[in-house]
Amino acid sequence: MKPEALVRPEILALQAYRVPSSDGMVKLDAMENPYGLPESLRRELAEVLSRVPLNRYPDPRAQSLRSLIARKMGVPAGAEILLGNGSDDLIQVMTLALARPGAVVMYPAPTFVMYGVSATLCGLRAIPVPLREDFSLDGAAFLAAMEQHRPALVYIAHPNNPTGTLYPDDDVAAIVRAAPGLVVVDEAYHAFAGGTFMPRLREFANLAVLRTVSKLGLAGIRLGYLAARSQWIREFDKVRQPYNVNVLTEAAAGFLLERLDVLEEQAACIRSDRETLAEELRRLPGVTVFPSQANFLLLRVPDAERADAGLRRQGVLVKNLNGPALRNCLRVTVGTPEENRILVKALKEAL
Ligand code: PMP
Repeated sequence: MKPEALVRPEILALQAYRVPSSDGMVKLDAMENPYGLPESLRRELAEVLSRVPLNRYPDPRAQSLRSLIARKMGVPAGAEILLGNGSDDLIQVMTLALARPGAVVMYPAPTFVMYGVSATLCGLRAIPVPLREDFSLDGAAFLAAMEQHRPALVYIAHPNNPTGTLYPDDDVAAIVRAAPGLVVVDEAYHAFAGGTFMPRLREFANLAVLRTVSKLGLAGIRLGYLAARSQWIREFDKVRQPYNVNVLTEAAAGFLLERLDVLEEQAACIRSDRETLAEELRRLPGVTVFPSQANFLLLRVPDAERADAGLRRQGVLVKNLNGPALRNCLRVTVGTPEENRILVKALKEAL
């Protein structure tokens, strides 16, 4: 008996999410915060974690962590929070919950790949609506596509991955207003951008705001959160696995979000280093740097395959996105000032 005869054809056609080995490399491929926690905080955290009862299942409601997030992240009264094992988990939960026969998921593209992958896994039809050549949002085209396909679920990555673009608030609000279904504004890179749709949960009943602590500096603990009106959260809560946030994550997040200023200071450094790095990369011959409101930059180089191979040879790992929608594009995470210097020097050689 062959698995191919039993596994769904759309899954046979998928590729598993591949993460290249980064041993000994300058790792600028995954939008991680390059700074660890200060030593004193790490010691205190170790103490906190040592007291976590590993023999017990997590509190499935994680009430205290949800209240802390609501308080620290400006979640307005009337909105509820759902926690996930990373925001990837919450994308899957929402997609699964809305997977009625024939349902459509729509998003401006290119964007974060998991919106499309989750749609495929859950049997929804994914309709990517192309961004303009300069990766700005064509609001009118998006509204027209929504009118035509009536999506149950719309994802707007705000700022967008992998372009770094922050679409104008008015365009996003117009999409939420006109959408026939739920609009998820994915603010994974919120810490590096101005503005948020969080307060606008008061205004729109069909809005959900998705966030993660990953880019802020806690990618390893896997914690995402979704804020929306209780009518949505109540339904999604039935779909998530009961213990999707483990006790160590819950304890670490509880401890660190009380000390959010440490991570926010690191984010402020990254934001300012992003501008320095963009200026330096723009000086390289033939390199275009797209404006970014996130902790990474999208570059267009003369030959992405050659540049990527040259960077790897010099021990620098970036994301090569070369393809029809992102011709000769590389995405580079903003690292420490030292890592950024190494990147610029290596790219100069690799072009
Ligand atoms: N949304 C966007 C836009 C992303 O770029 C990413 C990660 N690359 C995620 C969500 C998922 O983040 P996580 O699962 O680490 O919370």
